[in-house]
Amino acid sequence: MTESADEKAAQNSEHRRIDGKALAARLRRELKARAEAAGIIPCLAVIRVGEDPASRTYVGAKIKACAEAGFASRHIALPEDVSEEALLEEIRRLNSDADVHGILVQLPLPRHIGEHRVLAAIRPDKDADGFHPLNAGRLFLGLDAPVPCTPRGILRLLDEERISLRGKHAVVIGRSNIVGKPVASLLLARDATVTICHSKTPNLAEEVRRADVLVSAVGKAGLVRPEWLKPGAVVIDVGINRTPEGRLTGDADPACAEVASAITPVPGGVGPMTVAMLLENTFELAMAAKGKNGAPDA
Ligand code: NAD
Repeated sequence: MTESADEKAAQNSEHRRIDGKALAARLRRELKARAEAAGIIPCLAVIRVGEDPASRTYVGAKIKACAEAGFASRHIALPEDVSEEALLEEIRRLNSDADVHGILVQLPLPRHIGEHRVLAAIRPDKDADGFHPLNAGRLFLGLDAPVPCTPRGILRLLDEERISLRGKHAVVIGRSNIVGKPVASLLLARDATVTICHSKTPNLAEEVRRADVLVSAVGKAGLVRPEWLKPGAVVIDVGINRTPEGRLTGDADPACAEVASAITPVPGGVGPMTVAMLLENTFELAMAAKGKNGAPDA
């Protein structure tokens, strides 16, 4: 099989691992300094319902990150059988608490609670996750809004790695409201040509083969095969899966790293950026609340 010069060059290029952990640590330090310089103590309220172990871990990491950045936080843990009305009441209380700048409800919620009703109850100007329908709509329209943390972290990683998106073909696998749809909107806003794939996409390999930038947000270990990738493609692996031995792994088969020009590891890629972007959203909401928008971007 003959290879084009471009393919050879791409194959010979360095296979970079994108270090989300290091970038997230730097951004968190910068946010601490920015909040201190602005004389504010951003405060994030996190509501957790039930005792799901993954949710406990995620919430714990978010609260710890707040403390390390010098931010204040509130951790509201409600029982699994809490009524929807009681949860809404808690949100209303936080909505009217002037000391709280950002509110987040850890998902998923128990089945008896309406997720959309709960997310819509959060004041849009305290919406730390950017999941309120008004903010989701604003993002879709290309207007200013709190941006969901994982998609925001992905764009920040691409920017930091100086990966240009204009005119590139970006393929997103996964169409969730949390990752797939918002990241596709952000990539589109950066002039990428975007394809969104999902569980009913008939020929995933063919779609992925056209990707200059691939974002996989599915949650299936080894789904993305190295032979599907265009040599030199950039792979952003959002998936978090646990191997039978208990190790964390992404959606991309490990051999993808040999074909991609750059790839995010799991763990240590997108995950840490999600927490850093949550702090950034909270910081920005606190700045807006104080009427101090327009602080220099770090
Ligand atoms: P989700 O379950 O809501 O969505 C999964 C998506 O994958 C769906 O849109 C579905 O259509 C698609 N899908 C399922 N099987 C497929 C297949 N065989 N081929 C193509 N598409 C398929 O999940 P989510 O909340 O978007 O999360 C996706 C993954 O990302 C999970 O592993 C989750 O743990 C991880 N995640 C990581 C972070 C982070 O910070 N790193 C944040 C959020 C989610």
